[in-house]
Amino acid sequence: MEFREVALTYPGPPPVEALKPCELTVRRGEFVTIVGPSGSGKSTFLNVAGLLDSPTGGRYFLDGIDTGQLPDHARTALRGRRIGFVFQSFHLLPHRSALENVALAMLYTSVPRAERFTRAREALEQVGLGHRATAVPGRLSGGERQRVAIARALVGRPSLLLCDEPTGNLDCANAASVLTLLDELHAAGMTVMVITHDSEVAARGRRTVTVHDGRLREQVTA
Ligand code: ADP
Ligand code: ADP
Repeated sequence: MEFREVALTYPGPPPVEALKPCELTVRRGEFVTIVGPSGSGKSTFLNVAGLLDSPTGGRYFLDGIDTGQLPDHARTALRGRRIGFVFQSFHLLPHRSALENVALAMLYTSVPRAERFTRAREALEQVGLGHRATAVPGRLSGGERQRVAIARALVGRPSLLLCDEPTGNLDCANAASVLTLLDELHAAGMTVMVITHDSEVAARGRRTVTVHDGRLREQVTA
């Protein structure tokens, strides 16, 4: 990911300069945590990184592609191929099993139905929940639910995982299981970017970027 003077102003009224011109380069395989006060621009930054929002200034390159030059359908396709999202709330369908929830992420793709379930099973195994495939979300702990949501993010085989407060709704033990999983995915080569309020999570990052009033500041850690 290369951010070159990337800025985003929400049009308003009144207009909000949520991101002021930002410079950042994240290489493949890095684990970056994003910290900063509420309203500082963290989610906006992650949404730009994930091609959910388009910057209103500067250029954002993903895998060398100048994403600002892409037509909408190509941006959507690039997002689908490269990026997995994890949010604070799990957004699982309550009446579907863990396996179905993961498989549903591929519903509007060209992947045939049987293959969707094979891949969903693999993704659940990857997050350590192969044995819980038939459980509905209400039967799972918070940590397990978030791991199902992570399996759903992984099922498209992304190279980049973007997480917005992934442990924000979890108690310590469940948060720990999610963090261990993110570490494992990183160790297996995934590029991971995590927004967090949790100093425990921030400490896992090999790099920490602080957002303050729409500006990024890199924390230099040993
Ligand atoms: P954080 O994730 O750090 O809490 P956000 O990126 O959500 O911060 O928000 C940054 C700023 O942009 C805040 O002032 C917020 O109120 C504003 N903002 C966020 N989303 C929108 C939007 N869709 N329209 C207008 N302003 C927004
Ligand atoms: P909160 O922090 O309020 O619990 P979330 O972390 O669930 O919110 O979501 C953060 C932002 O991402 C919100 O703007 C939400 O609309 C958006 N979002 C949540 N889930 C998805 C999803 N599956 N796909 C795209 N955007 C989503």
